[in-house]
Amino acid sequence: MIPPIASNFVAGETAAAAIDHVDDLNARGVHGILNLLGEHYEERENADADADAYVDLANALAERETDACLSVKPSQIGLGVGDAAFEENLARIVAAADCFVWIDMEDHTTTDVTLDAFERHARETDGNVGVCVQANLKRTGEDLERLADLPGKVRLVKGAYDEPAEIAYREKARVDEAYREYLTYMFEHFEDGIAVGSHDPAMIELAQDLHADHGTPFEIQMLTGVRERAQFDLAEEYEVYQYIPYGSKWFSYFYRRIRERKQNALFALRAIVGR
Ligand code: FAD
Repeated sequence: MIPPIASNFVAGETAAAAIDHVDDLNARGVHGILNLLGEHYEERENADADADAYVDLANALAERETDACLSVKPSQIGLGVGDAAFEENLARIVAAADCFVWIDMEDHTTTDVTLDAFERHARETDGNVGVCVQANLKRTGEDLERLADLPGKVRLVKGAYDEPAEIAYREKARVDEAYREYLTYMFEHFEDGIAVGSHDPAMIELAQDLHADHGTPFEIQMLTGVRERAQFDLAEEYEVYQYIPYGSKWFSYFYRRIRERKQNALFALRAIVGR
């Protein structure tokens, strides 16, 4: 069982619990993006098992007519085994899903293969897939030029991986500057399909201003348990999606949230006390 302090950040251990969480969010105007926790598998068996779980999840969503997307990590569905394993499992998930499928972005060694897979599926599904790009990577400006002409959605995040200085901005202020620059480019050059994957009020405000200037539609994406009040408030005017991790591998995810921001522990505690 997930202890209350961790359940603030994770929807539950099972797909059924995660879908119930989505139903609650939908009732309050927020959409859901479901992510089965798991990554860095080296064994094909493990990658196939999680891909199977995503296929089952897609079927369960369709059966219950629940409005939700999926978000998968390449190293969870086979990239650590080989490009072919990743591509086969991704194709299986995309084929099974009636819903939108996001591809998360992992460290820089995976960027090319992830973008190539996205491009293929974006063209084949006429835009029913999305990919994440990271503002801390210096290459992202060029990647956005390639992505601007493709169908599908692109989520801009600051970047969660510790990357070498030759290829990445490492200071927070420089990453924030890059985020602003890339987001501005997206609003100027993308016709639609922009996702702002950030809890940062400054970045969300910038997106609101750019939307007012250019009219380009966009959505805001935040994690379960982080700034939830803001998620519900923003949903009154904008499209808001909550990225919802679930599954038995909740501990390392929860630990990462706490290490990343000690205040998260306080927020979690406050949420429990306030229940
Ligand atoms: P930060 O720079 O961490 O914080 C900026 C400001 O936001 C803070 O000063 C505060 O005002 C507010 N804030 C931040 N956290 C909190 C909090 N816990 N409580 C209250 N206020 C807070 N990374 C990847 O590398 N690949 C991915 O595929 C990926 N997918 C993501 C999907 C989603 C939906 C989200 C939200 C993030 C994803 N990330 C991904 C993680 C991302 O790269 C960042 O590491 C993470 O979002 C932290 O950056 P930030 O923009 O939210 O704000």
